[in-house]
Amino acid sequence: MNLTAANHRIPLSDGNSIPVIGLGTYADPRKTPKGTCAESVKIAIDAGYRHFDGAFVYYNEHEVGQAIWEKIAEGKVKRDEIFYCGKLWNTCHPPELVRPTLEKTLKILQLDYVDLYIIELPMAFKPGDAIYPRDENGKYIYHETNLCATWEVECHPYFTQPKLLEFCRQHDIVIVGYSPLGTSRDETWVNVSSPPLLKDPVLNAIGEKYNKTAAQVALRFNIQRGVVVIPKSFHPQRIKENFQIFDFSLTDKEMKDIEALNKNTRYVELLMWRDHPEYPFNDEY
Ligand code: NDP
Repeated sequence: MNLTAANHRIPLSDGNSIPVIGLGTYADPRKTPKGTCAESVKIAIDAGYRHFDGAFVYYNEHEVGQAIWEKIAEGKVKRDEIFYCGKLWNTCHPPELVRPTLEKTLKILQLDYVDLYIIELPMAFKPGDAIYPRDENGKYIYHETNLCATWEVECHPYFTQPKLLEFCRQHDIVIVGYSPLGTSRDETWVNVSSPPLLKDPVLNAIGEKYNKTAAQVALRFNIQRGVVVIPKSFHPQRIKENFQIFDFSLTDKEMKDIEALNKNTRYVELLMWRDHPEYPFNDEY
C-alpha cells in the first residue's frame, strides 16, 4: 500500500479505515501546563495528522475536542476526516455504565461521535467517583467483570509482538501500537530498566542513511508492517518530525534487522496492579 502524508488511511475489516499514524495525547497532568495539549493537537492537524488518541483519564480530553473544533471552524479539516479514539476507564466496566460514560466523553469533547472506543485496560476497578479507588490501607479496590477484552498493544522495535501480529493478520485485525517510541520513561509507571529505544545504535545507523531520526525509523518500521502508531509529542518540532515518515521506506534487510532488536520486554508493565485477577501481562500474546 502506498502510504502518503495526504492519504495514509488503512482499511479495517468492517469497511471503515484508520489513519496509520495518530497523535498520542497522554502527558502527566501535574507537569503539563493547561493549553499545551490543545496547542499540540492544532499543530498536529496543520502538520497533517488526522488521528488522535485520547482518554477521559488523561484529563485533557476537553482540550483535544476544543482543538479539533477550532480547526473545523477554521475550515482546515472536516469532522469526517478526523479519527478520534476514546477510552472506557476501569471504574466504568459494568455494561450499564458504558453508554453513559461514552456520552460523558462526547460531552467533554463536544463531538457527537467517536471513531473508536476501547476498553482502556482489561482490569476493572470499583465503580464510583474515585478514579483510582483505594481502601483505608491504600490498597486498590478491584471489581469483577466478565470481560471480553478489547485490547490495544504496546508495540515498538524492542517489543515487536510477532505472534500477536501474525494472529491479527490471519484474522484481519489491525493493531494500534501504543508507546511506539518507547514511552516518556516516567519511572512512576514505566519499566526503565529496559534501555531507551531511541538510543538504539541500529535505529540510529539506519536513520543516518536516510537523514532521519531513530524516532522516525521506529515509526516507519511499524507502519511499513501495517501497525498503526500513536506517538505522543507536545513539542512542535517533534510533532512534525514524527509525521515525516512517508517520504522514505526501509529495505527488507533493514526491516529484518529492526525485527531482530526485539527483547520481548514491555516498558508499560503496570506492576502496581499485578495482583488484579485480570492482570493481562502474565500471558504471552
Ligand atoms: P511514546 O512512545 O509515544 O513516547 C513519548 C515520549 O517521547 C515523550 O516523552 C515525548 O516527549 C518523546 N518524543 C516524542 N517524539 C520524539 C522524537 N521525535 N524524538 C525524541 N523524543 C520524542 O509514549 P507514550 O507512552 O506516550 O505512548 C503514546 C500514546 O499511546 C500515549 O500518549 C497514549 O495516547 C497512548 N497510550 C495508551 C495506553 C493504554 O493503556 N491504552 C498506554 C500507553 C500509551 P515530547 O512530548 O516532549 O516530544
